[in-house]
Amino acid sequence: MPGSLLSAKLVKTDQLSANTLQLSFEFVQDDRASFNFIAGQFVQLQLEIDGALHKRSYSIANSADHFKTSGQLQVALSLVSGGVASGFFRKAPPGFQLNIAGPFGALTLLENFPGQLVLVGTGTGISPYRSMIPQLKALTDKGTSVTVFKGFRYREESIYSEDFAQLSNLKFRTCLSRESNVNPANHEYVGHVQDQFDALNLNPEKDVVYLCGNPGMIDDCVILLRDKGLSPRQIKREKYVYSGH
Ligand SMILES: Cc1cc2nc3c(=O)[nH]c(=O)nc-3n(C[C@H](O)[C@H](O)[C@H](O)COP(=O)(O)OP(=O)(O)OC[C@H]3O[C@@H](n4cnc5c(N)ncnc54)[C@H](O)[C@@H]3O)c2cc1C
Repeated sequence: MPGSLLSAKLVKTDQLSANTLQLSFEFVQDDRASFNFIAGQFVQLQLEIDGALHKRSYSIANSADHFKTSGQLQVALSLVSGGVASGFFRKAPPGFQLNIAGPFGALTLLENFPGQLVLVGTGTGISPYRSMIPQLKALTDKGTSVTVFKGFRYREESIYSEDFAQLSNLKFRTCLSRESNVNPANHEYVGHVQDQFDALNLNPEKDVVYLCGNPGMIDDCVILLRDKGLSPRQIKREKYVYSGH
């Protein structure tokens, strides 16, 4: 899908957790009318550091409605030790300019789902579902069963819980793989996101599962879902593979 290449500036950096930053950008020419994304898509940040160009992809974390009203495009960045973009954005000052290419990607929603919709994300892989919140509300208002599984190692790494908790008809579970004491009243469960599939009673004729984030998690989930009879067209995925150049 062809995207545009627009000049943007960093306007705000929020620390969402010890290892996650939320970056907010504005287009220099205020291109919000011409930058049309669909919730679930990603952008590519093009960083020029010491004369070298580094391209890194990030899911858009805010809704299209929020972007249109605020003019800000948000992404969540999981800090990686020794990472070029990670190291750069730890210290990048507001006003820093870069190019943003996009939008790209097809991890987008349909207007209707015949069965239940299950959205699975590990770490910042939860961001595209945050962007979808207005559509998720519309789906649950129509009676569609929507479940979000967020996967983290530790409780303090969890992000965006309050955004999902405010959707009263949406079911969500935070799966914590390295915590032993969890609070189910607070939507917490021990283990990995894929441990939750058995509880869903998936219907292989109708249900659709979205997977986003860690490539290993996605591969594991695909094997389990295929074993449960889901066909490739019922499984949508976005792997956060590292470009490293
Ligand atoms: C379609 C797409 C969407 C993406 N969306 C997001 C997003 O919304 N949020 C986000 O945080 N990332 C996202 N990513 C990953 C992102 O593009 C970068 O790869 C990531 O931020 C690391 O970049 P870096 O420059 O900091 O590290 P690099 O300089 O690329 O890597 C430095 C070293 O760390 C290793 N490494 C890189 N990442 C990790 C990791 N997570 N865990 C362990 N080792 C690692 C590399 O192999 C390398 O050895 C996405 C990737 C794709 C392809």
